Amino acid sequence: MSDSQGDCIFCKIAAGEMGTTFVAESEHVVAFDDISPQAPCHVLVVPKVHVESVHQLDSQEVWAEMLTVVQQVAEAKGVVEGGYRIVSNAGPDSGQEVPHLHIHVIGGSKLGRIA
Ligand code: 5GP
Ligand code: ZN
Repeated sequence: MSDSQGDCIFCKIAAGEMGTTFVAESEHVVAFDDISPQAPCHVLVVPKVHVESVHQLDSQEVWAEMLTVVQQVAEAKGVVEGGYRIVSNAGPDSGQEVPHLHIHVIGGSKLGRIA
């Protein structure tokens, strides 16, 4: 884990450098709308610290905080009753595009099965 990585877009967003509106924010975590939403609700929950994926994360505190922010996002987006999905891609076979840990929170419409 490192405080930030110069060329990482999610580090810049989390640091507030891109003027992004946060759906939710806590001490170590931010949440913001995905730039290319796959459903009416598609939010990314991101730690402020730079961690490549869940596999490199060594802080249970940060992980727990990310899950609390997932719950806050679902409430804020009104998808609790209808239900939602969380996904975190890790590494090339998953198709991870941005190498900074994030949880996708996807909902607001009927989702196809992935597993
Ligand atoms: P991954 O494939 O790494 O799990 O997902 C990366 C996600 O980040 C994609 O859904 C993509 O649309 C989103 N994304 C990539 N660049 C940006 C950006 O600059 N801003 C926002 N809000 N989302 C981004
Ligand atoms: Zn980063």
